[in-house]
Amino acid sequence: MYDVIIVGGGPAGLTAGIYCGRAGLSALLLEGGAYGGQMTLSSEIENYPAFPKGISGDELSGLMRGQAERFGVELRREKAKTIDIETKTVTTRKGEYAAKNLVLAMGASPRPLGAPGEGEYRGAGVSYCAVCDGGFFKGRAVAVIGGGDTAVHDCEYLSRICEKVYLIHRRDRLRGGDGALQRVSRPNVELVWNANVTEFVGENGSLTGLRLDSGRLLPVSGAFVAVGSVPNTAAVEGQLELKGGYIPTGENMETAVPGVYAVGDIRVKSLRQIVTAAADGAIAASAILA
Ligand code: NAP
Repeated sequence: MYDVIIVGGGPAGLTAGIYCGRAGLSALLLEGGAYGGQMTLSSEIENYPAFPKGISGDELSGLMRGQAERFGVELRREKAKTIDIETKTVTTRKGEYAAKNLVLAMGASPRPLGAPGEGEYRGAGVSYCAVCDGGFFKGRAVAVIGGGDTAVHDCEYLSRICEKVYLIHRRDRLRGGDGALQRVSRPNVELVWNANVTEFVGENGSLTGLRLDSGRLLPVSGAFVAVGSVPNTAAVEGQLELKGGYIPTGENMETAVPGVYAVGDIRVKSLRQIVTAAADGAIAASAILA
């Protein structure tokens, strides 16, 4: 029996691990994908303190992971299949693990747009990660859909490697205001305002264009969907109260069930950033230690 099982190895989970490990608790951290979570989708993180020149998501993830390992956290690349909140037991394909405390740090995943053709051309032109897949579209025309920071980041990144980038947004201003607009104002970027994608169009199994609600067809071989994210709470549905899909917590990150904590993007909060995810992890660990 561990003192703590942390489910999820993004900045929230890794920081919870660093604090628990450093305090001498036995901590198991389970991560089914890449350590760092959504951080790994960013080519450059400019607003994490102490990196004035920016740092790549991969590099920051590696640093956090190394720090958790240094403090004795047991890191396992295993996806949690079931999470039993009452018994604080987690099963993976490889085994069953129990703990005195659970820290839920499963984060969130990119939200699909939901237009026809999106599923059909997923992986054949439709992507949710510019940093991972942008290279496939070098010198070609692509589109980014969305108007938040992810869309701006993706557009900036793709404009450096693609011939043309359409930024398609359903409104006439970006969430980040003028600062964001400046970042995407580049000669090879066309801003397509007040537009919705109604269909992902393709030929011979690959994406060839995007149909807009105006009727216009944009000829692109890549489409990067950046319309927000959805929390990964499926494993705890019906066991914990959810608000809009997210887990409510108290100020110390504890859920309504004693000994069960939720940290990072998975919980109800106003600002979902790496720095607030890391803070959540530290607060949960401190509450466990109290
Ligand atoms: P977001 O802030 O929720 O923005 C989602 C965007 O998609 C919005 O512009 C929204 O339009 C649009 N959208 C949502 N549903 C849509 C639909 N069905 N059809 C068309 N458009 C739709 O998500 P995000 O950009 O992924 O950012 C999430 C969080 O991560 C934010 O807190 C952000 O600041 C942070 N982040 C930070 C960085 C960084 O600091 N380097 C990088 C990436 C993300 P409306 O504007 O009309 O609502």
